[in-house]
Amino acid sequence: MGKYSGKKVYVTGASRGIGKSIAQCFYSEGAHVIGTYKNSEVGSENFCSEWFQSDFESITNVQECADHIRNIQPDILINNAGINVNAPFLEVELNNFQKIHQVNLVAPFLLCQAALPSMLSKGWGRIVNISSIWGKVSMSGRAAYSASKFALDGLTLSLSAEFARRGIVANCISPGFIDTDLTRQNLGQIGIRDLVARVPASRLAMPEEIAKLVLWLCSDENTFVMGQNISIDGGFDRA
Ligand code: NDP
Repeated sequence: MGKYSGKKVYVTGASRGIGKSIAQCFYSEGAHVIGTYKNSEVGSENFCSEWFQSDFESITNVQECADHIRNIQPDILINNAGINVNAPFLEVELNNFQKIHQVNLVAPFLLCQAALPSMLSKGWGRIVNISSIWGKVSMSGRAAYSASKFALDGLTLSLSAEFARRGIVANCISPGFIDTDLTRQNLGQIGIRDLVARVPASRLAMPEEIAKLVLWLCSDENTFVMGQNISIDGGFDRA
């Protein structure tokens, strides 16, 4: 028996990076984990009990994923899937701005709406939305990504204010620089080296370090942390 035996946990973007680690940690604690992916090969991955394919760039796919959630009725929802395209402000294309917002904000919004009714009827639910350090501070080239992640924080705060009294614990986590494909793709080796030099802990974090915080926030040990946006960034945003 693990700490999460009997719980259904829905993790978006569970095939790689932070989401994979979150799914693995819940699974190893006995949860029934339902993971989503976009196009990775997940057939042999056994850290999710079930897989659901969904590309959140398609609103039809997001709506199908929401229907899947209404059917599954998870106890815990982790909105982790996210994308980023860095670009100078004046070169941000409208379609990229909208695409990033659909994946990073509209999908979590619709999936929260789909998960909440069954959580409310049980009087118990946990939601963690994975934001970013660029949802607490920002820098050049991050307009679309930062806007989407700041908005995700606002959405989570409002959700928590509305539903905390009915047993729903909702929080955001804002990771700093994590050793994943997204980081390597967006920063490259030189970009990673330059950013790490600005992190007080002087390194990237591993996805497991984020997963441990997610599990704690969803656990019964967390009795009073709600509506927060917690940085986990090696001290970056306070340096
Ligand atoms: P990865 O790129 O490593 O993994 C992304 C996951 O999301 C994969 O499972 C991928 O599926 C899925 N995914 C990608 N695009 C879509 C899409 N259009 N629709 C649905 N699912 C999709 O990302 P990370 O693990 O690095 O990031 C996870 C979250 O953490 C994101 O929200 C990101 O913004 C946030 N974050 C990451 C940081 C970092 O340093 N890495 C720092 C701060 C925040 P598939 O494998 O099929 O492609």
